[in-house]
Amino acid sequence: MTARTLSILCFGAHPDDCDFRFGGAAMLYRALGHRVTFVSMTNGDTGHHDMGGGPLARRRRDEAMASARIADIDYRVLDIHNGELVATPELRKVVIQIMREVQADLVLCHRDHDYHPDHRAVGTVVQDAAYTVTVPNVAPLTPHLRQAPVLGYFYDAFRQPVPFVPHIAIDTDPVMERKIDMGCCHVSQVFEWLPYNGGTLDKVPA
Ligand SMILES: [Zn+2]
Repeated sequence: MTARTLSILCFGAHPDDCDFRFGGAAMLYRALGHRVTFVSMTNGDTGHHDMGGGPLARRRRDEAMASARIADIDYRVLDIHNGELVATPELRKVVIQIMREVQADLVLCHRDHDYHPDHRAVGTVVQDAAYTVTVPNVAPLTPHLRQAPVLGYFYDAFRQPVPFVPHIAIDTDPVMERKIDMGCCHVSQVFEWLPYNGGTLDKVPA
């Protein structure tokens, strides 16, 4: 066990983003006794070709919870429409409240250079929260953090306007099988929507 338990908090836009980008690392941190919380900032309710709205949001929430059980982490799905996330001051306060509630030491999120508007909004709103989380009169009903958490970014492959620079790499090979199991919990995505959207649905094995 480590001397101090850390609280690691990941913000993704959709109920699978944290899993794919940080699922392996999350399991390694859990094995060291640290706390890990994943937050999906939207409910994912447009992420499918023939299912949507409430039924899809509930299905994807359940998929996220199944993935969370494999990694033994906390997972929250905010009830905000997929594709409509905007980095407003109100949403910033929601992010601040979560950071304070879990007493975050390390926060991970998307960069705000990304193809998806929800991913960009997460990057912006989390960066905007990262300093103000220490300001007592911002969201004053939730006790402020004394120290701002370390902010890091999930890996991405975007080259413009600023390419991703990997300062830290974590070898997740020891937990890769379980990470794949996490991904496979997201049936609506990896076996349905993503192959449909990529034009490869007919190649998905039965
Ligand atoms: Zn996403």
